[in-house]
This record gives sequence, structure tokens and C-alpha cells, in this order.
Amino acid sequence: MASTREPPCLLIAMAHGDDMEFYCGGTVAKFVSEGWRAVLVMFTANMPGADLHNDGKFLEHPPEAVAPAREEEVHAGASELGVDTIVQMGFKDSAYYTGQRVTWLGDPDYNLQHPVGHEPLPAAAGNFRCIQKLQAVLDKHKPEIVITHNFSSGFEHTCVATMVNQAFGQAVRDGTKLGSLWIAAAARHSAWESDVRLFPSPNILIDITDHWTTKLRAIRAHKTQHVESAIPKIEAVARYWGIARQCRYAEPFSMIQDARYR
Ligand SMILES: [Zn+2]
Repeated sequence: MASTREPPCLLIAMAHGDDMEFYCGGTVAKFVSEGWRAVLVMFTANMPGADLHNDGKFLEHPPEAVAPAREEEVHAGASELGVDTIVQMGFKDSAYYTGQRVTWLGDPDYNLQHPVGHEPLPAAAGNFRCIQKLQAVLDKHKPEIVITHNFSSGFEHTCVATMVNQAFGQAVRDGTKLGSLWIAAAARHSAWESDVRLFPSPNILIDITDHWTTKLRAIRAHKTQHVESAIPKIEAVARYWGIARQCRYAEPFSMIQDARYR
């Protein structure tokens, strides 16, 4: 008799296209291969930075050109990992290239009304209405595991981590059946690599050896992002935690909230 039970949901909440692939791509591929349903919540509209013509020019294209190209890559990477659903929150990035220069939120020429994206992510992070929108996503999917950024891995990542923590906690208090909240403890692109320095002892290590090549394919789906230079570091980190896990490659996480035993 076929089971009518819904597959458990893994929800991945990330700031930018390619964050999921770098921080937890192997884990997503592994859980999907074990029958889980993966939902990606993409926070920013991915406005700044893309080498659109493969000519090395990364910060020369305006958001209206960058965002659609990066959205395609988000879908391509998610599809490599077997992600079932992508929820676009569509918040503005805190900086973007105008075609002439980088403009930052708070600079007079930052266009708050720019048609790409809704309110800027840093503003959304402090806005309860935006956090409620995220809570509604958690209510809908009732994930058994939520994976998000750690609090020190770069400014926009921190905004996402803050929102996810607020929404997760509120959802639990409101009685939504959620599992646990994990933060990705691997390094990628914070200035001091505080990812690995602040979380030297993650309490969850996922063996991703069988999914390593899938993770790499998903990373490389982000063609405009100059990902090759980051791969040796990602491999070294995955090998390091693989040694701890007694396998070839592992991804590290810290579980910071566990709602199953509330
Ligand atoms: Zn990122």
C-alpha cells in the first residue's frame, strides 16, 4: 500500500543565488536523494555583479540586466540539486551597480524605487511585516529542517539569519509544527572568514561524499559568478570536516533551535 505521508521538507533560506550551492549544496542533494522535498527561499533580487558576457567585466551591468541572468542561474543550480520549489522574496540588495558606479543603500543615488526588488533587505530585516511574510512561508511548508546563514558571514547573510531566526521562533510560539534550525558553518566569503572561526565545532556534520560532484555542478551553474576561484577553498573546508566525519567530504552545521521538543 502506497504511503500517503508527505515527504519531509528541507527549507533553505539564503541571501543570494549560489549561497545554497556553496554552503549546503551536498546536503540538499543528499536529502533530496533520500526522498525529502527541498524548498529554496531566495531573499535578494540578486541585483549586483555578474560577468554577463564572460569577458571579466563583473560590475558593469545594471540590476535590470543582472537580476534576470542570475535568476536563471538560481533555477539551474537548484535544479542540479533537485530543489522542488523556489520562493523569491525579492528584497533589494544593499548595493548595486548603476552602469557607472556602485551605489549603496544610504547613498543619495541609491534608488529606493528601482523596479528590481521590493524594500531593501536591511530594511526588511528590521520590519516585522516582512518577517511575518517569511513566517507565512514556514507555515506553508512546515519544514523539518531549516538551513540558513550564520550571523557573521557577511552583512546580507546576517540580515537573512536575523529574519529567519525571528520568523522561526515566532512560528514555533504560534504553534506551527517545525523541526530544527541549522546554520551553515562552512566558510565562503566573509572578510575574516569568521564562518569557520566562530563555529569551530559544529554539532552536525553531513557526509556529502556521494554528492560532491553534484554540488560542484550546481556551483558551476552560476556561470556569471567567477566560482572557480572559490572551489579550492570550498573543497579544503569540505575535506577538513570530512576528516572529522571520517568520510571524504562533509558539510558542517550548527543546530541552534530545535522545535521538535518544545
Ligand atoms: Zn551570499
